[in-house]
Amino acid sequence: MIGAGVIGVAIARELKRRYGGRVLVIEKEDVAGWHASGRNSGVLHTGVYYTAGSLKARLCVEGNRRMRDYCRANRIPMVDKGKVIVTRHEGELPALHELYKRSQANGVRVSLIDQQALREVEPCATTVDRALFVQDTAVVNPQKVMETMVAEAAREGVEFRHGCAWRGAGDDGLVDTSQGRIAYGHLVNCAGLFADRVAHAYGVGTQYRILPFRGQFYLLRPQSRVRVNGNIYPVPDLRNPFLGVHFTRRPEGEVTVGPSALPLLGREQYRGLQGANVSDGSAMVRYLVRLFGRNLDHFRSLAWKELAKMSRRGFYREAKGLADGLELRDLLPGKEPGIRAQLVNTRTAELLNDFVMEHGPKSTHVLNAVSPAFTSSLPFAEYVVNAMKLDR
Ligand SMILES: Cc1cc2nc3c(=O)[nH]c(=O)nc-3n(C[C@H](O)[C@H](O)[C@H](O)COP(=O)(O)OP(=O)(O)OC[C@H]3O[C@@H](n4cnc5c(N)ncnc54)[C@H](O)[C@@H]3O)c2cc1C
Repeated sequence: MIGAGVIGVAIARELKRRYGGRVLVIEKEDVAGWHASGRNSGVLHTGVYYTAGSLKARLCVEGNRRMRDYCRANRIPMVDKGKVIVTRHEGELPALHELYKRSQANGVRVSLIDQQALREVEPCATTVDRALFVQDTAVVNPQKVMETMVAEAAREGVEFRHGCAWRGAGDDGLVDTSQGRIAYGHLVNCAGLFADRVAHAYGVGTQYRILPFRGQFYLLRPQSRVRVNGNIYPVPDLRNPFLGVHFTRRPEGEVTVGPSALPLLGREQYRGLQGANVSDGSAMVRYLVRLFGRNLDHFRSLAWKELAKMSRRGFYREAKGLADGLELRDLLPGKEPGIRAQLVNTRTAELLNDFVMEHGPKSTHVLNAVSPAFTSSLPFAEYVVNAMKLDR
C-alpha cells in the first residue's frame, strides 16, 4: 500500500480483516494523515450535494452513518449539531430546491426551513426565503480520527513504514522506495496528490492528471458577534466541484471560516511559493488557460471568485452573506491549509467530480479521492477491496 492517508489506512485495515496475510503501508512522511486527511474541514457530509446513483452519493450516505458510529464507539469528540445551507439572493433558490430533491433521492434527513426556524438552529445565519437544515452533518477533528484508525490497524497487524517514499515501479513484483526494494503481491496506490504519477508508472490512468488546489481557512475571532452552533454553508454552484466558504464549529471549540480553492504551482505548495515547481506549475497554467478559454465548468466565474479570496477582504466578502454581524477583523489567520488533489481528464480538460479507481494487472489505483472521501472512507475501502483483482 502506498500512502497513509485516510483512504490508505482504511483499505489496509479492510484487507487485513478480510484476507489476513501481510499488509504493509509505506508513507513518505513521518506520521499518517500529514496531508489532506489531517488538514480538512472535518465535516462528516451527508450526501446532500451528489446526484442520485453516483458513487459519491452512495458512499457518502453510508460513510456518514458509519463514521459517526465509529467516532462514538471510539470516544472521538464530535460536534453533532447539523448544518444549514443558506441562500444569499433569490437566484440561489432553484439550486436550494435542487439540493432538497437530491437529498430526498439519496435518503438524507433534511428540511426546508424559513428564516425564523433557521434562527432557532443558527441564531446568526441569514437567508432569503428558505434554508435547508441537514440534521446528520457532524464535525470531528480529522487528526484524531487518523490517530485512532492507525492505532487500530496496527493492533490488527497492519505494518506501517514511515519516512519510506515510493520512487518507481521497479521490476515485476518489486517497488523502488527510499528504503530500498520491497516485494509485493498486489500494490494499492493511495498516494493522494501523487496518485496519478504512481498510476502512470504502471501504465494506468494515463488520461488523468492531478491538479492541486489549496484550501485556506481563517479562524473566527472569539469575540466576534457571529455565533455558530454547527455549520453554516452557502448554496454552491452545482456546476463546480467546490462547496464554497463556510462556518464550521470544531470539537475544540473554535470556528473555522473557509476553505478557498486556489490553483497551485506545486502539489505541496502549502505556503507562498514554497513547493512550486516547473512541472506542476506549467501543467496548472496549461489547464487554466484551456479551461479559461473554453469556460468549462463555468470555470471563469470560479477562477475570479477564488482569486478574490487570496486577500482577507475578498474572503470576508464571500463569508459575510452567510451570517449577520461578521466584521473584517473577525477573520484571524490560524488553521493549517489543506491541498485538494483534483483529477482532470487531460483529453477533455474536464474536472472529475466522482471518485475514480483504475486497475493494473497487479495493482489498484485510487485516483480521485476528493471530498467527501474522508466521510466516505469506511465504505469506500470496502468498495475498493471488493473491486480489487487479487491473484490468490
Ligand atoms: C481543504 C480541504 C477540506 C476538506 N474537507 C473535507 C470535509 O470536510 N469532509 C470530507 O469528507 N472530506 C474533506 N476533504 C477531502 C478529504 O480530506 C480527502 O478526500 C481525503 O483526505 C483523501 O484522503 P487520501 O488518503 O486519498 O489522501 P491523503 O490524505 O493526501 O493521503 C495520501 C498519502 O500518500 C502519501 N504519499 C504520497 N506520495 C507518496 C509516495 N511517493 N510514497 C509514499 N507515500 C506517499 C502522502 O504523504 C499522504 O500521506 C477536504 C479536503 C481538503 C483539501
